[in-house]
Amino acid sequence: MGLFHMDLTLSCPTCGVHLVRVAPSRYLDLAVCPKCLASGPYEAIVENEAELTSDLQLPDDVADYLRGLRA
Ligand SMILES: [Zn+2]
Repeated sequence: MGLFHMDLTLSCPTCGVHLVRVAPSRYLDLAVCPKCLASGPYEAIVENEAELTSDLQLPDDVADYLRGLRA
């Protein structure tokens, strides 16, 4: 699975852990908290300081991948 992943310097306001950027496809580029899985569109989060939301349904492979990071 060619999941692009990069650690960000931004932190989750809830958990205080660094967000990661995951881009599972060319159409999906997300900033996600690996702990609570709150997420948002990468550009909106990084460039517009948008807030993370837990409403966004992460693709299963992305959620599995992030759970793997914590294990
Ligand atoms: Zn969090």
